[in-house]
Amino acid sequence: MLGTLAKWLRILGYDTYYTPNKITDDDLLEIAKKEKRILITRDKELIIRAKKHTITTIKMQETDLIEQIRKVIKENKIDEKKFLSRCSVCNTELLSISKDQVNGKVPPKVFESKEKYWYCPTCSKYYWMGSHYDDMIKRIEKINS
Ligand SMILES: [Zn+2]
Repeated sequence: MLGTLAKWLRILGYDTYYTPNKITDDDLLEIAKKEKRILITRDKELIIRAKKHTITTIKMQETDLIEQIRKVIKENKIDEKKFLSRCSVCNTELLSISKDQVNGKVPPKVFESKEKYWYCPTCSKYYWMGSHYDDMIKRIEKINS
């Protein structure tokens, strides 16, 4: 349910566990506890159960993405140096790569206009700061300041 938030938390550099596949609440609680993760959920019952396991939780009632991010940032300081350090799809840490390495691998328009690129070794996916990213980062920097 919070897939878009998970994607953006990764772009912002947060180590974010999210799976679109169904897993049971028991499994989820076990992962959160074992890996000392903060559980972000809309599910009130799950929050009650998590608290019994001494798992830190964030109850997410917000539906607007910026509001959701604001709530996470409030409890977990954001590190702007980590922006674009994780793959938004799989959470792997991205490798910074040179412009030469993406020649022919990204759309020509992108290649002409962008200098910085990143690569996910797990997904074999290339990243650059597109306009959507720029807009979002500006909004996030505003709520972070
Ligand atoms: Zn990836």
